[in-house]
Amino acid sequence: MVAENILKIKQEIGQKVELVVVSKYRHFEEIQKAYDAGIRHFAENRVQALLERKTQLPSDIQWHIIGHLQTNKVKHIVPFIAMIQSVDSLKLLQEINKQAAYNQRNIKCLLQVFIASEDTKFGLTETELFELLNNPIFQSMQNIQICGLMGMASNTDNIPQVKQELTHLKNIFDRVKKEFTLPEFNTLSMGMSSDYQIAIECGSNMIRIGSRVFE
Ligand SMILES: *Cc1c(COP(=O)(O)O)cnc(C)c1O
Repeated sequence: MVAENILKIKQEIGQKVELVVVSKYRHFEEIQKAYDAGIRHFAENRVQALLERKTQLPSDIQWHIIGHLQTNKVKHIVPFIAMIQSVDSLKLLQEINKQAAYNQRNIKCLLQVFIASEDTKFGLTETELFELLNNPIFQSMQNIQICGLMGMASNTDNIPQVKQELTHLKNIFDRVKKEFTLPEFNTLSMGMSSDYQIAIECGSNMIRIGSRVFE
């Protein structure tokens, strides 16, 4: 099942879109099946689960964190994390930068932007995003790479609304790319099981898929 699902999604999305498999809440045997089907990018939303998974699974997995990250947990993941997709404050970024320097690493980060109409989702507002990017503290950080943006549309069947929210994020992405000198700024992570086709239409080049892979 898992292998067939992955093959189907990969055929659908083509080469230009990166598939990150969201392994949260899945048994490690299921995750291993996705690995055996060729997946190397996996995402978890909680640090504790991520640390457990990491010990049970092959060491060449590129781990992403996609859930709200507390500053006091940063030190546990910085030694090995491939990408932190859920950066939602300058304070968090400062801690990532500090721990990264301590580990002599450069950490790939996405800034999470709040685009949904629900208030249950984390992320920077558009105003906060530009404040952060313009902040001299941010501009002096040496051990982080801002690789792009991450966002989640509202959890709704209203396709025009989803489209509008995802297009909004693409517009913000284009504006940041134009107005700031961020050499690694190339990743737009948007699209989950329910909306990845729409997200790709709207300009996504990284999708985060859980249920469509495992169910
Ligand atoms: C759970 C989760 C996903 C994957 O959701 P599915 O609907 O299972 O594909 C993607 N992104 C984030 C931030 C998530 O928390």
